[in-house]
Amino acid sequence: HSGFVAIVGRPNVGKSTLMNHMIGQKVAIMSDKPQTTRNRIHGVVTDEAQGKQIIFMDTPGIHKPKHRLGEHMVKIATQTLREVEAVLFLVDATMPKGAGDEYIIEILKNVKDTPVYLIINKIDLIEKQQLLEIISSYKDAYEFAEIVPISAKVGENVSRLKDLIFNLL
Ligand code: GDP
Ligand code: MG
Repeated sequence: HSGFVAIVGRPNVGKSTLMNHMIGQKVAIMSDKPQTTRNRIHGVVTDEAQGKQIIFMDTPGIHKPKHRLGEHMVKIATQTLREVEAVLFLVDATMPKGAGDEYIIEILKNVKDTPVYLIINKIDLIEKQQLLEIISSYKDAYEFAEIVPISAKVGENVSRLKDLIFNLL
């Protein structure tokens, strides 16, 4: 069993940090494969015991378009997100929901059948009350399959997130 998972989120929310935490030693295996600009592969996580493999990928075109070509990129991003097993939508717990996050939510609304997980990152930097406020600000914006607060840097809740994704396969 293997499946594709897309990680989306505006710059600096911690996508690379999360990947670094989740990726195992097997990443090198993928680096020989050709990577298209459509589906750039971030890395692979393997669960040897279950014989499962998750392939994480980047989603070009998910960022706010600066010119008209952007519309085409949005279509590509939407199509990519429709084809994966799950989407991890990363947000920064220290920042209020902004235009960049709302732009991504608009794209997610066009992706009906893929489960989207809201990953609230950097919880090591905030108080519980702030987390509750962030959660409520996102809850009404989209029907997430699950909301998972993590700290990619410290590794808090990252293994739980991993389990969640593996259980989808
Ligand atoms: P990306 O642009 O989404 O790939 O974000 P990065 O992974 O490059 O992270 C952006 C910055 O946030 C870096 O300085 C990271 O060290 C920091 N960062 C990422 N995750 C966490 C976290 O859970 N806690 C804290 N305190 N910092 C984090
Ligand atoms: Mg990055």
